[in-house]
Amino acid sequence: MPELRKDPVTGRWVIISTERQKRPNDFRFERPAIIGREQCPFCPGHEDLTPPEVLAYRHNGSAPNSRGWDVRVVPNKFPALQVEGGLDREGDGMFDRMNGIGAHEVIIETPAHDKTFSSMSEPEIERVLSAFRARVLDLKQDHRLRYILVFKNQGATAGATLEHAHSQLIALPVVPDFVREEIEGARRHFAAKERCVFCDIVRQELTAGVRVIQENSDIVALAPYAPRFPFEMWLLPRRHGARFEDAPQHEYESLARLLKTVLVRMDRALECPAYNFIIHSAPFNDANHGGADLYHWHVEILPKLARTAGFEWGTGFYINPTSPEEATRVLRSVKL
Ligand SMILES: [Zn+2]
Ligand SMILES: [Zn+2]
Ligand SMILES: [Zn+2]
Repeated sequence: MPELRKDPVTGRWVIISTERQKRPNDFRFERPAIIGREQCPFCPGHEDLTPPEVLAYRHNGSAPNSRGWDVRVVPNKFPALQVEGGLDREGDGMFDRMNGIGAHEVIIETPAHDKTFSSMSEPEIERVLSAFRARVLDLKQDHRLRYILVFKNQGATAGATLEHAHSQLIALPVVPDFVREEIEGARRHFAAKERCVFCDIVRQELTAGVRVIQENSDIVALAPYAPRFPFEMWLLPRRHGARFEDAPQHEYESLARLLKTVLVRMDRALECPAYNFIIHSAPFNDANHGGADLYHWHVEILPKLARTAGFEWGTGFYINPTSPEEATRVLRSVKL
């Protein structure tokens, strides 16, 4: 059983998941081996290589766990958290712990082994976003859970061990640190100005124009004012809304369109870099961190261009060699 432990100084929760040591791409290996097409468990016809699906968008009335799907969601074969059991929150002297209860799922985005978000069509990306939403809405009903992290590691240096396009979802009984930090910042801004900090960012960046990479009727893609990484991008809805899963349908459609174009820009400008894609959304079932009125959901894209060096790990202080104004200029000038 994985375990959650809270650091008594920072309040940060970590997952101690010793079972994961047994996974094939153990950290003993320098570089994780990428599994190719022949043994790919995400390719059609290999459905029996994954745990049974929890959701699939299928055509021609095909049977579950067989060919004929467009998007397929399965539990992770090497889950960081476990679905069954109670949280059993307990103290151990001054320390806090609970069982590592939660869900860890894989969203197989397309039956085509070679596709990526930038080579998928807009409706295909939109279908993936719908699958994210459907899984979040389903898992939210579990009252042990507080947050659902939807993310994607594209490319080996971003942590992907399978090349077939997929995203992951981790449903947690605690609110992750980065969300807590953003909500506290949004709360401070709101307390001082009675305005959402993200709405203010969108408004100011659209007026200034120097860090807006691209926009459409619903979503604005920008290089944040103080990015941690070169070519870091945020995609924010213009309309205020705390949660990804509560967005109106046209926002997913607009997000799919913008996502595809900014990723094509990034691939052309930087020769298909590895990146992390993360949806930031307000927690649920949580009185302390909820932030429903002051949080504003968004997507962050973090290219892995420079390896995080000991300095960043040691100090938590990022050094970014590319200004967001320069990154914007480069991405905007890409010929589509
Ligand atoms: Zn495949
Ligand atoms: Zn807002
Ligand atoms: Zn964020």
